[in-house]
Amino acid sequence: MKIVFATNNHNKIKEIRHILGDSFTLLSLEDLNINEDIPENEMTLEGNAMQKARVVHKMLNMNVFADDTGLEIEVLNGLPGVNSARFAGENKDSDANIEKALSLMGSSENRNARFRTVIALIMDCREYFFEGVVDGRIISEKRGNHGFGYDPVFVPEGKTRTFAEMPLSEKNLISHRARAFEKLRNFLLRYPDNKD
Ligand code: IMP
Repeated sequence: MKIVFATNNHNKIKEIRHILGDSFTLLSLEDLNINEDIPENEMTLEGNAMQKARVVHKMLNMNVFADDTGLEIEVLNGLPGVNSARFAGENKDSDANIEKALSLMGSSENRNARFRTVIALIMDCREYFFEGVVDGRIISEKRGNHGFGYDPVFVPEGKTRTFAEMPLSEKNLISHRARAFEKLRNFLLRYPDNKD
């Protein structure tokens, strides 16, 4: 089965190829010679993911999925959420994003947060969503050198180390992205028996 992943992020493609396995031929936008930026200007993760999937579906008329992820901090009413990459500005600076989040949280005792990944799939012209969540808490100082984004301040529930203190193989066992893509994989493996 051929399916398009509407991204040009090489790390994601590699990670998802690994999760989806050999049953699918996963094509990136680069594989299809699409080099333009796909718009992401909706107000929710669901909106952004579906917007990307629809744009690429319209271009190619192929089965396609797209993802969007955000960190949702309880005491900030879900911020940075859909704005996670650009929380502190257009240059997507992770250190500045973390600093802004920590400064807005101040000394609040409520450190609850979660990472949420949404995948939007368009399959035979029908639309589906898959969600992966990992709950955790935000610590007040960065720890660890692995990973990216908010990993140095996020400790997943039941763990003592931040995502940035774990090797990628350990993070990938429990991450929001892995959970969402596992759901996509299970759906695709059963398709079309589970169409409705
Ligand atoms: P994207 O939708 O996967 O591009 O993620 C948007 C933003 O969310 C990223 O630029 C990061 O700031 C943040 N983010 C997404 N996934 C992770 C993660 O696994 N760890 C830390 N930050 C993440």
